[in-house]
Amino acid sequence: MMNKRIYMDYSATTPMREEVLEEMMEFMKTEYGNPSSIHSFGRESKNAVDTARDRIAKTMNAKGKEIYFTGGGSESDNWAIKGYAFANKNKGNHIITTKIEHHAVLHTVEYLVKNHGFTATYLDVNAEGLIDLEDLKKAITDETILITIMYANNEIGTIQPIKEIGAIAKENKVAFHTDGVQIYGSGKIDVDELNIDMMSMSAHKLHGPKGIGALYIRPGIRLDNLIHGGAQERKKRAGTENVPGIVGFGKAAELAYEDLEERIEEKIRLRDKMIDGILDNIPYTLLNGHRTHRLPNNTNISFRFIEGESLLLSLDMVGIAASSGSACTSGSLDPSHVLLSLGLTHEVAHGSLRLTIGAYTTEEEVDYVLEQLPPIVERLRQMSPLYEEIQGGN
Ligand SMILES: *Cc1c(COP(=O)(O)O)cnc(C)c1O
Repeated sequence: MMNKRIYMDYSATTPMREEVLEEMMEFMKTEYGNPSSIHSFGRESKNAVDTARDRIAKTMNAKGKEIYFTGGGSESDNWAIKGYAFANKNKGNHIITTKIEHHAVLHTVEYLVKNHGFTATYLDVNAEGLIDLEDLKKAITDETILITIMYANNEIGTIQPIKEIGAIAKENKVAFHTDGVQIYGSGKIDVDELNIDMMSMSAHKLHGPKGIGALYIRPGIRLDNLIHGGAQERKKRAGTENVPGIVGFGKAAELAYEDLEERIEEKIRLRDKMIDGILDNIPYTLLNGHRTHRLPNNTNISFRFIEGESLLLSLDMVGIAASSGSACTSGSLDPSHVLLSLGLTHEVAHGSLRLTIGAYTTEEEVDYVLEQLPPIVERLRQMSPLYEEIQGGN
């Protein structure tokens, strides 16, 4: 049992697929040219970058020239929001977002407000993590230039009504950016049908390498550069291309969309087994996020009378790797801003556990978690004075 290691943290990052590694290796060992060079080494690299761009574009009904590579999801969010705000500040200074965005969006908007004279509306969400479309419509003013709302939430898995949001943005001639990092590779996306003007992606969330991401930018959308320098990425993002990373991202994207529907179904089956298995067998539990408008891989549950941190440590001791919120919030004692936005008390938010499954998750692993969890929860609760009181009352 000591050697058992079960990874239930796919929303934090994912293992790379063998096929991805293999393609990348060639561009580290043999075809290591700089895509800007005119010799054969350079040409091979440039072709590989173009192929990756096309592979990614194809998955979302876009064109290769609309995909720009970045250093990851955080950079894509920063670029979309700051780049758009700076390039369009003559049109207005108001940005609309939500209270449950990833910090890469939230802190970027806060920075623009604090240091560059922009104003922002942070939309509330309901108890299941959904925004109210009427709130969005009401928030739009003559000054609004950008709506940035995440596609799916990394902590609670809730999927927003993106098509409706895109339609509202289009009707009001406001640009629409979505942080698609969690959905990309796990859900079907058509940027035209959804009226998405910009979308952030990150390779390491879909079995690709870390430190490489992309931003989809619709033609006609103007962005200031974030990184100035050479003429890479059609003069919009300087720096020698991370060719192995880009190649790996392209391959990971292609693989993710090959048999998407089947894999979604299987993940939903295992996810629901996990959710029901916990809610049915452990008292004083509560599912966070929407029951069905939810990422196929996400289980997020609050356990009353427990500290999430101690739960994580106990699970780690039996080989289960999970998260208490997002990777960024663990390590700090502040409860997650996402869970608080759902209306949870600090106490309940602190007792939350996120289990996210992925391509390599087996039914046996889900069963193992369902077997290990109840006694751990019971043992931890025995140490809680509040729990003792409640039990004593029975
Ligand atoms: C992981 C994540 C990011 C950040 O992506 P990095 O590639 O790690 O910088 C941004 N937004 C969401 C929703 C994420 O899950």
